Amino acid sequence: MMVAPDTPLTRRSMLAALAGSSVSLCLPRAFAAPAPSNKAQIAITLDLEMSRHYPERGMTEWDYQKGNLDQPTKDYSVEAARIARDLGGIIHFFCVGRVLEQPNVDWLKEISAGGHPIGNHTYDHVYLLASSPVETQFRFQRAPWLVEGMSTEQVLYENIKLTTIGLKDRCGIDVNGFRTPGGFRDALNGREDIQQMLLDLGFNWASCKYPAHKYGEPMQEPSAEVYKDIVRAQTESQPFVYPTGLVEVPMSPISDVGAFRSTYWKLDYFLKAIRMAVEWAVETGGVFDFLCHPSCMVVEDPEFKTIKMICEIVDQAGDRAEIVGLDKIAAPFIEA
Ligand SMILES: [Zn+2]
Repeated sequence: MMVAPDTPLTRRSMLAALAGSSVSLCLPRAFAAPAPSNKAQIAITLDLEMSRHYPERGMTEWDYQKGNLDQPTKDYSVEAARIARDLGGIIHFFCVGRVLEQPNVDWLKEISAGGHPIGNHTYDHVYLLASSPVETQFRFQRAPWLVEGMSTEQVLYENIKLTTIGLKDRCGIDVNGFRTPGGFRDALNGREDIQQMLLDLGFNWASCKYPAHKYGEPMQEPSAEVYKDIVRAQTESQPFVYPTGLVEVPMSPISDVGAFRSTYWKLDYFLKAIRMAVEWAVETGGVFDFLCHPSCMVVEDPEFKTIKMICEIVDQAGDRAEIVGLDKIAAPFIEA
């Protein structure tokens, strides 16, 4: 079933509507980007971290060890990359730096060698909107001496910088983009200081926004209204440029942890929501940035049904859609 809102608002429709407009000089830079292709751009992203309440409910020690990936999570990541590649796609990974302290990182090198981009997800999965050093991460609440004498900005800066260095030193990987731990419904709007910090750290795009949408009642089948609202929220998940020039490539609902962990969805509900959202992107020429976590998906979708479905929808769309990394989505918006 194809689902599209009455007036889909996408890069393409916005740009088309604004073409030739006399007010174009007053518009934010997002609208002044070069005309994008008519192809829908679909990204599949996996955040390489451990998720609380996986592999079983009650497991929250990961809050302190986000980068201590277990073997099933690593195996799922490698296999997901292989499956996506076999189906003509790629996966954009975002890596928590602390995983680079593990004795073996061959699995990550293998993913990178397969042509899959790997971005920075901070070293300890820190909260970029924190107002104190210990608020940035559970680890620092338990062990505040690790951030003693540092400002919040210094903690964040070091946490991001070390991940970029670690990926290069340990794996020879050039970092490809940045994603904030947690998604913010208001993105980084109003936080020019954080935008500038990311620019200073060498990033010209970041994935920080996760729009508000309906979830329905936990443990119940989502209503038609919930599915409809998730499709509606796709219009709020389109790329744009912040005043500082940093490009935002939002995450597109619904995420795996939002569906499975928070709302106890069955896999079929999740597949239906993701299908509707991807089909919206194909129909409108928009962007869909699928967000999931191998630590969650290895439990909830062990047969990789979601990734296979996304690849199949894009394949069936022919030249109307392509699977890309977030860097390619951001590229038309980045100033020369
Ligand atoms: Zn994360």
